[in-house]
Amino acid sequence: VGALGLTLTLSACGSSGDSGGGDGGSAAADAKIGVILPDTESSVRWESADRPALEAAFKKAGVDYEIQNAQGDSSQMAKIADSMITSGVTVLAIVNLDNASGAAIEEKAKNQGIATIDYDRLTLGGSASYYVSYDNEKVGELQGQGLEDCLGADTKANIAYLNGSPDDSNATSFSKGAHKVLDANSNYEVVAEQAVPGWDNTQATKIFEQMYTENDGKIDGVLAANDGLGGSAISILQKNGVAGKVPVTGQDATVQGLQDILAGTQCMTVYKSATQEAGALADLAIGLAQGEKPKADGSVKDTEGNRDVPAVLLDPVSVTKENVKAVIDDGGATAADVCKGFE
Ligand code: BGC
Repeated sequence: VGALGLTLTLSACGSSGDSGGGDGGSAAADAKIGVILPDTESSVRWESADRPALEAAFKKAGVDYEIQNAQGDSSQMAKIADSMITSGVTVLAIVNLDNASGAAIEEKAKNQGIATIDYDRLTLGGSASYYVSYDNEKVGELQGQGLEDCLGADTKANIAYLNGSPDDSNATSFSKGAHKVLDANSNYEVVAEQAVPGWDNTQATKIFEQMYTENDGKIDGVLAANDGLGGSAISILQKNGVAGKVPVTGQDATVQGLQDILAGTQCMTVYKSATQEAGALADLAIGLAQGEKPKADGSVKDTEGNRDVPAVLLDPVSVTKENVKAVIDDGGATAADVCKGFE
């Protein structure tokens, strides 16, 4: 990292990024929306970005809501769902921990006449009325393209993949998108590829260390499916004195990921505005709660349930050193957090 490059990109750290909330809007009197987030370990996004964005969206609409976190435990999620159903939610949105447990919750809600929405993760074999997410294959394409840009398209490179959880249907799409880009370059060879159960960062560190050892350190680029997994790879690269020399991708534009990008140890991340995603969920949920049939522009195939699920699929943004500031300006992170330790 040239000193000049660092100074320039750190101009991202000059502005304060406060986003205006704003109250008011129409009241949705009888509606109550329940949302169950998956965990706090697979990504910091659920509590640090999604929860506040969801709260803001529901408050703005003047609708009653309850948001809980299943802490990575699918039986806990089922219990929360039961209690929300009993407490009279009119719409239930979940980020499933796996397809089977998610589908069971949706079935139960359906039997009580409560509509469900898949938030961020599609529940294969489920019965949700809608799916709200980002275009997940596009996320993977951005990661693949980002890695190719960092490696150089004309350079021979050994690539290792740290994929997301095998339980998460998004992980399949991320990997598919990344492969689409990277497999098209004959200079690149996949030398290792593994899915990380539960997106667990500790396991990812062990998995990547093994990949690194088995390949005698001959790994030139790492396609890590999110910032947490990227951080796991970076820690092993650091241990071997090559962090910053081996580009690593990510996703979620977490504070850690953005700082690693500024420090030069991470090549890119993918920004998926929680404000947009939560806003889309709130719109659909409130429409449903009011007995409407809200319009969704897209649809996704549930390959297990063999049905098309009406979907809102938002557009993800690739983030490198050059546009970290755009995330801050959009309210996706505060300059104070990102710049801690850089001034
Ligand atoms: C989400 C990612 C997140 C990952 C781990 C995925 O389903 O789309 O944003 O990093 O789960 O929580």
